[in-house]
Amino acid sequence: MDRPIICGACLIAIAAQAQAFQLPTANHTLFEKGGEERFFVGTAGKPWLTGTFGCVRMGGWQMHEGLDIRCLQRDRQGEPTDPVLATADGTVAYLSTRPSLSNYGIYLILRHQVEGFEIYSLYAHLREVRHDLKIGQAVKAGEEVAIMGRTANTRDSISKDRAHVHFELNLLVNDRFASWYKKTFPGQRNDHGDWNGQNLLGIDPRLILLGQYEQGAKFSLVGFLQSQTELCRVLVRKTCFPWLKRYAALVRPNPRAEKEGVAGYEIALNFNGVAFELIPRAASEIKGKAKFQLLSVHEAEYHKNPARRLVAKRGAHWELSSHGMNQ
Ligand SMILES: [Zn+2]
Repeated sequence: MDRPIICGACLIAIAAQAQAFQLPTANHTLFEKGGEERFFVGTAGKPWLTGTFGCVRMGGWQMHEGLDIRCLQRDRQGEPTDPVLATADGTVAYLSTRPSLSNYGIYLILRHQVEGFEIYSLYAHLREVRHDLKIGQAVKAGEEVAIMGRTANTRDSISKDRAHVHFELNLLVNDRFASWYKKTFPGQRNDHGDWNGQNLLGIDPRLILLGQYEQGAKFSLVGFLQSQTELCRVLVRKTCFPWLKRYAALVRPNPRAEKEGVAGYEIALNFNGVAFELIPRAASEIKGKAKFQLLSVHEAEYHKNPARRLVAKRGAHWELSSHGMNQ
């Protein structure tokens, strides 16, 4: 759909309205027709699409879990200096100020409540986090929280011309991730506790920001999640897991299970492993005894977005991979 071109002043007026999420820098070209080149930074030598969210790298086999947003301001050395802004009202959840510990370099995570839903924004490759910020501190939408930079611990550093903030919106899988990790992978380092990337599941910030922009007050984050494309459907013989409590708005009622007692959950996953629909099931509705069962796979979605490798085809059968199980 074509979007109208809107002047900067109008954009600020729109952003000031009660929308849950705002752009994390002054770069608003996402909302301009044909503005993608000026908004996204692709990987070295590749088009802007590789700076968007999804299976956009290595021919679709590598996932990029955020948006790489181009810098607008530089100092005399050509280093990025854009203020990085809180995308929504929230509190500081985590900050990592030692660039050598992550390919995110220096990064910051904020916790937000949107429509009663816990959601986390992440800002990476920062030059610095605002010095007075502490875990638990409240911030307002649009408040400056950091300065854009080029920090990372990867072998190939981010060049000056590719300077950007890497911006994510995430759901949190498990509050006890750190202890689960220690038990499951004894001896392996986990420098970031519950804030390990494996414990955060990204959703597409571009679709959310554009959805809000186009639908205004009608936009709903829960509605956005409920309308994800299904990759597969699994059955889990568990009745209590953290996702169920944190994202209870995604549970669909099932009178039979409510009457007979819940024995497990049927769960729809999108290509990134986000459980966007959970249906309680009674024992009488469950076949087989396995703890996890893969009920169905949408092959077209798998071919379109394969990078997470949540399912795999063995002969004529689909199986849930170990990546899929750990979700
Ligand atoms: Zn990135």
